[in-house]
Amino acid sequence: MVNRKELDNYCNEYLNVTAFKDYCSNGLQIEGTENITSIVSGVSANLALIERAIDEKADAIFVHHGIFWKDEDQIIRGAKRRKVSLLLSHNINLFGYHLPLDAHPEVGNNVQLGKLLDIQNMKPVEGSLLWQGDLNISLSDFTSRIEQKLERVPQVFGNQEEKIRRVSWCTGGAQNYIDEAITLDVGLYLSGEVSEKTPAAALENNLTYIAAGHHATERYGIQALCEHLSKTFQLQHQYIEIDNPV
Ligand SMILES: [Zn+2]
Repeated sequence: MVNRKELDNYCNEYLNVTAFKDYCSNGLQIEGTENITSIVSGVSANLALIERAIDEKADAIFVHHGIFWKDEDQIIRGAKRRKVSLLLSHNINLFGYHLPLDAHPEVGNNVQLGKLLDIQNMKPVEGSLLWQGDLNISLSDFTSRIEQKLERVPQVFGNQEEKIRRVSWCTGGAQNYIDEAITLDVGLYLSGEVSEKTPAAALENNLTYIAAGHHATERYGIQALCEHLSKTFQLQHQYIEIDNPV
């Protein structure tokens, strides 16, 4: 069991939350019960996840995509009201970690995805959210590996050269960082989503671009964080997958 405040402080320090300028607040977003023994993790604070957490009698939910974003309407109504009201009435804490969870060197989304896809010599690109590493594999074998590990068929754009050596990646909706990937010594850039302009940017710069799913690439950081918390504070932990094809 752990006290809410202690858990919040621990996560803020472990994830180096104050070092990030983000589109949302990181840490406790909704205050629930003071003593926490069981936690649930998920990618996004969707209604379906909150309902499952209630069924599981969780004391806290940990997500990558929280409930409040800086560019959103500040009024709590409609679907947001329903979610906030369910959390408050069931006394469930909601913790959200966005960019600090992407970047973390042990439990971060990027390092966890790199491990899952067996990328070698992984390291973050300095001053950036992107990571880079080595692969010695054909493009077709790599796309099969992604399909098998993420249970989702990736979309491949741009250069279709079979041999892959250097790769850069950033989980989630980081397709616009392709401009940064172009400046690196890599043949392939991978993220979650794709925009209208991404295929041409890849093709015209002789780069392969893979969209492997925003949700699918961001399942692993929150699970790794909660496994770590579960060991550190002897908490029960369960990851709940709420399907999202994007
Ligand atoms: Zn995301």
